[in-house]
Amino acid sequence: MAKATVKIPTPLRTFAGGASELSLDGSTVGGVIHSLAEANPGLKRHLFTAEGRLRSFVTVYLNDEDIRFLEREATPLKEGDVVSIVPAVAGGAPTSAHSPARAASRTRSGENGSPTFSTEELRRYSRHLLLPEVGVAGQKKLRDAKVLLVGAGGLGAPAALYLAAAGVGEIGLVDFDAVDLSNLQRQVLYSTSDVGRPKLVAARERLEGLNPGTRVTPHEVRLTSENALDILAPYDVILDGTDNFPTRYLVNDAAVLLGKPSVYGSIYRFEGQVSVFDSRHGPCYRCLYPEPPPPDLVPSCAEAGVLGVLPGLVGVLQATETVKLILGKGESLVGRLLLFDALALKFRELKIRKNPHCVLCSSHATQKGLIDYPAFCGVPAGGLTSEPDGVPKVEPEALRAELDSEEAPFLVDVRETGEWAIAHLPGAHLIPKGELADRVDELTRASKLVVYCRSGVRSAEATRFLLDLGFANVRSLHGGLNAWAQRVDPSVPQY
Ligand SMILES: [Zn+2]
Repeated sequence: MAKATVKIPTPLRTFAGGASELSLDGSTVGGVIHSLAEANPGLKRHLFTAEGRLRSFVTVYLNDEDIRFLEREATPLKEGDVVSIVPAVAGGAPTSAHSPARAASRTRSGENGSPTFSTEELRRYSRHLLLPEVGVAGQKKLRDAKVLLVGAGGLGAPAALYLAAAGVGEIGLVDFDAVDLSNLQRQVLYSTSDVGRPKLVAARERLEGLNPGTRVTPHEVRLTSENALDILAPYDVILDGTDNFPTRYLVNDAAVLLGKPSVYGSIYRFEGQVSVFDSRHGPCYRCLYPEPPPPDLVPSCAEAGVLGVLPGLVGVLQATETVKLILGKGESLVGRLLLFDALALKFRELKIRKNPHCVLCSSHATQKGLIDYPAFCGVPAGGLTSEPDGVPKVEPEALRAELDSEEAPFLVDVRETGEWAIAHLPGAHLIPKGELADRVDELTRASKLVVYCRSGVRSAEATRFLLDLGFANVRSLHGGLNAWAQRVDPSVPQY
């Protein structure tokens, strides 16, 4: 005999006294399933036919293997094995005493004396009202909730749509960008006709159109140490959809100082991370990462690219955690870091512990207020997307003239191979920025260099690097290939 854990799926839990798992003794998989059925007679007809055979729509796994590929019910058990019952599920709700009619009658009577839902709202939220974990009381919590989304981009867009659809009463949005054509590949809050409009104007229209019961409060500013505490203070939950380290640390620190939960999400190429930081019950972002990486090691999405559906997935996971926090239901991601790999389609989970020496959230914290985050992260005040100062630059029109002259400069393209394939300047030499240090000897014969990239950030960093190595005549194309396309050659595609 061995002791095994039997996992009970949601649809069958009502027949097992509500348990999600039970510890049972047996020598085979069939043995523990039978003893489970004997102990919970309501389960029996769901699992077995009248002849006592396992029903065909019930699949049983031993650890991560289907027992049909092992020895079926005769598969032997070892101590600590996990047996999972996996029934076919097509959506829909379980049949239980929790009927919509009852939920509606409770609603109309206005329990707790708070305002009731209208007939239209009852229809709108019926799939929530049917869920015992939400119901009328939960829907009221959602209506009373205030959620602040920092960033209305790849993560904020899907999260905002689902939070408005779910009936969150107030959604605050912090962003100051306009909708760009390149946003539409993932920022599903916006339409093609919104290109060029302020994001928050377009977002408000879309969200209030989706649910007139949701109030959208725009904060069209850059979040700074001066305004962050005031902006965050009225909200219950902060959803961190930022794309740069200074703002990420700022959001974390402000949330810790105000004692609010922050639902974290981040994306990179094909990988995502999600967690919930709530220093009252667990670690904060600084416990996980006390210091940011050097700015030149971490490219932004604009430089690195991102699979369009990835922020959709991560943003929806963030919305899920936000809804659970509001409802006070389930097991939140506090203290857990969820890692998602879209290429392998795998989720992994790591434990995050509170750092006993965290400068912000430990018992002997030394940081009592907000700090200068761009300086802390080692980036210019304008953020990662601005070109470094003090680097010699050449304007696109001037470069055009020089290229036509006798003393044309040697062009170095420091973008990635895939970007080169989109467009490049004639005669240019491709050395991706990350390879520059190893391939610098390819440039020694050129007396005059102009370095370019997409927008001028990477080329300015590469120019600084080459000047430091002793190259005398190096300049960076100001505004990059995109400025060249706008001002010199409109046939070059911008991306
Ligand atoms: Zn901490």
